[in-house]
Amino acid sequence: MSFTVAIVGRPNVGKSTLFNRLVGRRLALVAEEPGVTRDRREGEARLYDLEFTAVDTAGLEEADDESLEARMSAQTERAVAETDLALFLIDARAGVTALDRHFANWLRKGPTAVVLVANKCESRAGEAGRLDAFSLGLGEAIPISAEHGEGLSDLHEAIKSHLAALPDMDDEEPGASDGEAEERVLQLAIVGRPNVGKSTLVNRLVGEERVLTGPEAGITRDAIAVQWSYEGRRIRLIDTAGLRRKAKAVKKLEKLSVADTRRAIDFAQVVVLLVEAEAAMEKQDLTIARQVMNEGRALLVAINKWDTCEDREGALKRLRDRLERSFSQGRGIPVVPISALTGQNLERLLRAVFTAYDVWNQRVATSELNRWLAGMIQRHPPPAPAGRRIKLRYMTQAKTRPPTFVLFCSKPKDLPDSYLRYLENALREDFGLPGTPIRITLRKGENPYAG
Ligand code: GDP
Ligand code: GDP
Repeated sequence: MSFTVAIVGRPNVGKSTLFNRLVGRRLALVAEEPGVTRDRREGEARLYDLEFTAVDTAGLEEADDESLEARMSAQTERAVAETDLALFLIDARAGVTALDRHFANWLRKGPTAVVLVANKCESRAGEAGRLDAFSLGLGEAIPISAEHGEGLSDLHEAIKSHLAALPDMDDEEPGASDGEAEERVLQLAIVGRPNVGKSTLVNRLVGEERVLTGPEAGITRDAIAVQWSYEGRRIRLIDTAGLRRKAKAVKKLEKLSVADTRRAIDFAQVVVLLVEAEAAMEKQDLTIARQVMNEGRALLVAINKWDTCEDREGALKRLRDRLERSFSQGRGIPVVPISALTGQNLERLLRAVFTAYDVWNQRVATSELNRWLAGMIQRHPPPAPAGRRIKLRYMTQAKTRPPTFVLFCSKPKDLPDSYLRYLENALREDFGLPGTPIRITLRKGENPYAG
């Protein structure tokens, strides 16, 4: 999982203590490395099932200058701008101070999501300070004790809900164990109706690349994978029963049943939907395409049997039209004409596969995203039901694979789907995310400017 959390607050509230608790022993390794500065420590943190990069900003706010402004150094500002979420700590025993208020005002105006945390609340001490923290306008403070490890499950809940609380949050690596080496192997599936040429394509791909290292068993009970590399990058072609039975010879694959198709999609990261020029994107093809997108995989369409296609221009146009009209995520899905039989365009197909994978993994910086959002709102403001305009407060990318965004909004229930589609289509265009499912989750966020 790739998101970053900054721990911010005035000196002595317990930032380093919390950082050490989240990062634990792993910090020792990080700190030994040269280049890790004392005033901005980063470490891989774990909080139950959440894994993220934690940034400790302790020390950043202690400039010599007396003014509050100066103490909030540019470094803290940068640290916060670069993270997805800020944990804003106060010392509940000390109560809310002027410097806390200053921090709070500044954080509320920024684009980064904030979770307010009242530290030093062990054994219910600091209850008064915690309640007082309401006045900071950042919602209810989560009571914790960084030193004693209390309140961490509430903190976990709060972070999770800010980061989309998606059901598939932990499902980062479909079809692979989470070792680092695994991460760089692209999991590919080729699906399509019977007789479109799947077996021919697989055999051609695998046969041409003589660096075949598989087939290897044991990815799952039923799946078998063939692994090879192309231009230095590794691909694992996931197949189901077909490959397994013919494992030794990798001969003609069996036709994929509906269940096999589903299984192949489940274990893939990138899916090539193979169609025929003459009968492209019929109902069955569209069903598969939708299924791929719904499962959050990257999708490409390959038009096979290009060698026999007579009206090539017409075929391409028909296919693109069908894709775009048939479902909202269909726009811009890469289409590659190939011939599995002659081998035409297979290199182009593989390159497109890797591009799709990269797009699927793409991350948009929170600061960039919010500049973009401001422009989108200006161009086309959200509606104002009953005279009160819906406010879109900020947006952050909670995860990749596929790109998943959280949009904090004053009235999530009232924001029309058409507005979300407007944002989604523009995200796809402006950040170059074709053929990848984009998810936007709405969350209710306090509006610092209201009343
Ligand atoms: P930082 O300057 O914000 O990084 O704060 P530190 O992590 O250095 O902590 C400042 C002081 O608060 C230290 O003496 C800690 O031991 C103490 N402290 C941190 N967390 C807690 C807590 O949960 N309860 C209590 N009572 N003290 C804490
Ligand atoms: P599958 O059922 O999707 O695995 O399809 P097959 O690979 O068994 O192919 C079905 C038929 O289409 C076979 O007769 C193949 O020779 C033929 N075929 C596959 N690819 C091409 C191609 O690119 N051009 C032509 N002309 N025929 C092809």
